[in-house]
Amino acid sequence: MQSDNITVRVGIFALNHFSMSIDREAYREIQSLLYKDNITLVAVSKTKTVEDILAMYAEGQRDFGENYVQELMDKQARLPADIRWHFIGHLQSNKVKYILPFVHLIQAVDSLRLLKEIDRQAAKAGRVADVLLQVHIAREETKFGFDAGELGQVMETVGGSPGEWGHVRIRGLMGMASNTEDLSVTRAEFRGLKALFDRWFPAGGILSMGMSGDYQLAVKEGSTMVRIGSLLFGKRG
Ligand SMILES: *Cc1c(COP(=O)(O)O)cnc(C)c1O
Repeated sequence: MQSDNITVRVGIFALNHFSMSIDREAYREIQSLLYKDNITLVAVSKTKTVEDILAMYAEGQRDFGENYVQELMDKQARLPADIRWHFIGHLQSNKVKYILPFVHLIQAVDSLRLLKEIDRQAAKAGRVADVLLQVHIAREETKFGFDAGELGQVMETVGGSPGEWGHVRIRGLMGMASNTEDLSVTRAEFRGLKALFDRWFPAGGILSMGMSGDYQLAVKEGSTMVRIGSLLFGKRG
């Protein structure tokens, strides 16, 4: 199962190697929309080539999002040092150590165990790691994240003994809405996430919600960070 997945991903990666397909017009349009509300655009470059990333970099983009540890490590080694790398995929605890030295924001922390490992590896690396907690807002079973009750437990655990968590900083929340055409469902999910954000981060922070298909709605519902891939780089394999 695991190795099949890897084979498929390597295949997609190789295929994309022959296409230079960034959409500069879409990039400028999205940036101008986000700019006035001070919303951060994370360009999701998973499966895309270093050439495509460099083309986006040349447009001024600095925040990039990746989902796979090995792919992120390969790209980070080959690309400019001032890129801010966001890890937006499901992260296994045993792989934290590989990205911790350079990662800018780990967006999808979905267990206390993972949070503990990030804290431990950050202490080792002599830094403080910024993270978002992923909240499960979609109807699909397959999406990772805490429910509202679990989120409360984590926030209380960490907030209740801050001394023990000296190397991790929870900056906000991240969520993925259901994959549906029904905007009322997406809106309700975004509102639910925003309510949790307001409750646990009353002084503000990062609310990462919105992707290619729903970022405009996410922005209306209070997002401060969107993660956009296919609108910028074209559809993935
Ligand atoms: C792939 C991915 C995105 C970007 O998706 P698009 O629909 O291509 O914009 C955003 N967030 C996460 C967590 C992803 O895995």
